[in-house]
Amino acid sequence: MDRSAAAHVHAHPHTPWIHTGPSCLAPGSGLTSFHDALARVIEAAAPRDVVERPLSEARGTVLAEPLVAREPAPPFAQSAMDGYAVRADDTRGATPDAPVVLPIAGEVAAGAATPAPLAPGTAIRIMTGAQVPPGADAVLPVEQTRESDDGRVALHATARAGDFVRRMGEDMQPGAVLLPAGVRLGPAQIGLLASQGRVTARVFRPPTVALLSTGDELLGGPAGRIRDVNGPMLAALAGELGCPVVDLGVAGDDPEAIYAALRAGLSEADVVVTSGGVSAGRHDHVPEVFERCGAAWLFRKVHIKPGLPTAAARHGTKLLFGLPGNPASALVTFLQLVRPALRRMAGAAPDEGVVVVPAVLEHAIRKGDGKRHFHRVIVTRGPEGYTDGYVARSSGGQGSHMVASLARANGLVQVPEDSAGLEAAQVVDVELLAPPA
Ligand code: AMP
Ligand code: MG
Repeated sequence: MDRSAAAHVHAHPHTPWIHTGPSCLAPGSGLTSFHDALARVIEAAAPRDVVERPLSEARGTVLAEPLVAREPAPPFAQSAMDGYAVRADDTRGATPDAPVVLPIAGEVAAGAATPAPLAPGTAIRIMTGAQVPPGADAVLPVEQTRESDDGRVALHATARAGDFVRRMGEDMQPGAVLLPAGVRLGPAQIGLLASQGRVTARVFRPPTVALLSTGDELLGGPAGRIRDVNGPMLAALAGELGCPVVDLGVAGDDPEAIYAALRAGLSEADVVVTSGGVSAGRHDHVPEVFERCGAAWLFRKVHIKPGLPTAAARHGTKLLFGLPGNPASALVTFLQLVRPALRRMAGAAPDEGVVVVPAVLEHAIRKGDGKRHFHRVIVTRGPEGYTDGYVARSSGGQGSHMVASLARANGLVQVPEDSAGLEAAQVVDVELLAPPA
């Protein structure tokens, strides 16, 4: 359990590794520093295969090759307004009171064939998006004109060359790299692909995540049932990352049941995440079952709080994570260790989208051990009239079993291994979990 390892740490409060930084944990302590644990999962997490997805199913996936423009955009000189295509020179001197009057030589609508060239001294009626006739170099918006019944138009303003003409290729030139590989496709990127005539995108297949909650108490018993918090919570976390989820349900503290579930998870998913049963208690079977599955350890315990018992192993190109059962531990370790791996497997940077803001701490946060702490906080813009950026305060009880304060938090503050805590009024880095209130 969490407590036995913590006791071990407290029994040796002056062991040098506590004070010499995160990479110097005593060999044989069984503990891996947070930074080493993170480095190992990132190293072990390789992008999945490349697949061709229709644009309608590509949102949230990561581009596996650069998008290189094949076509210019706009594809031709295009009108930006409804109005009249003219030679700017022919409008010289036109004012609201003294218009220049030109005969209308024709009309060109959006989607129409290439119009005939504009003869000098004439105007052509033109619609937004239509091809500007050869010879015309400006468009005068319809609001600055008046058409008469005799087929002529009065131009009440002087046009300058280029006015309201979108130049061919001004947005994209053939050969230009429009998106590099590794970009996550959102609505605008999907639009860009479509603008280049793509109907599919070559993207990395997002990793599938299998989730298993373990613990006899989740199945009910004499003391009543403990509700499975981690199953739905971790499914939501995986879903946020665009990962399909395989729900392996709940297994009791029974090695055979856990083994069967893990085998199913490994056959269906790229990543298997368990919660519970990973500590040192007599009923904690997850680590032995990882080994029985043939997985190779990345780490067994991480020197953090919450989440010390977290374990991770590699199984071929797949990963197994054993997260502690306490919900705050499960959430924090998923965010800090599983999520970077999932991003990598999806083809993105491990820290993609992480937003860290400076915030003034409202109160001190003390720490008496050498672990790296992840303190759940509430980040706000401060009281009315406060202009000094963000303010952070604890979201409440930091017990790893506490779900209410977890759900109130919109930020995480890290207190490093060698720190005794953070001071009131200190500016700290806060990783945002949700936008500040
Ligand atoms: P364990 O990691 O198995 O030692 O469990 C630590 C604590 O977390 C115990 O109080 C468990 O009852 C609780 N727990 C384990 N799994 C879950 C879960 N899926 N949802 C809510 N609480 C859980
Ligand atoms: Mg348990």
